[in-house]
Amino acid sequence: PTAADLLARFVRDVPDFPSAGVMFKDIAPLLADGPAFGAVVGDLADRYRGTVDAVVGIEARGFMLAAPVAVTLGVGFVPVRKAGKLPGPVWAAEYALEYGTAEIEVQQDAFGAGRRVLVLDDVLATGGTAEATCELVERAGAEVVELAVLLELAFLSGRDKLPGRPVHALLTV
Ligand code: 5GP
Repeated sequence: PTAADLLARFVRDVPDFPSAGVMFKDIAPLLADGPAFGAVVGDLADRYRGTVDAVVGIEARGFMLAAPVAVTLGVGFVPVRKAGKLPGPVWAAEYALEYGTAEIEVQQDAFGAGRRVLVLDDVLATGGTAEATCELVERAGAEVVELAVLLELAFLSGRDKLPGRPVHALLTV
């Protein structure tokens, strides 16, 4: 099966989570299936082998994908975290949520100069999280080769917030 087939089979729709009216895409069944999780990690690693120097994961589900992809590629992993979690000098970016704002951070010394990075997350929804992450990576001196997600929720038009950025979704719904 292709990675898209596996996602269609192992990602579960959960109605009214985290709030009424939201249909949440739950990747837990995919993570819980060793062969399926491994195949999806392998598919991502194949796409970026030899082209990136680091993989950035967005807290928290992005970590679960970015770390095994980085290890498979033999490159480093860099976390982008919610505000207040990372020690030392950080760069911070604020972005809009449906209600209010959120803030994420990256350590200023996370990348060597000119590093080419893959940014990885589970779901692209409105695109705010991904755009803020790409801006942080660039502020830290690295180049975003591509933003990759397992699932893109096309009806939320996240790509519109990422003009000019290459976006790769394994499955678009
Ligand atoms: P955005 O900023 O694009 O609106 O939201 C994307 C972020 O929220 C991602 O970090 C993603 O993990 C999370 N997210 C939003 N909707 C869903 C969903 O339906 N399922 C999962 N697993 N994560 C979601």
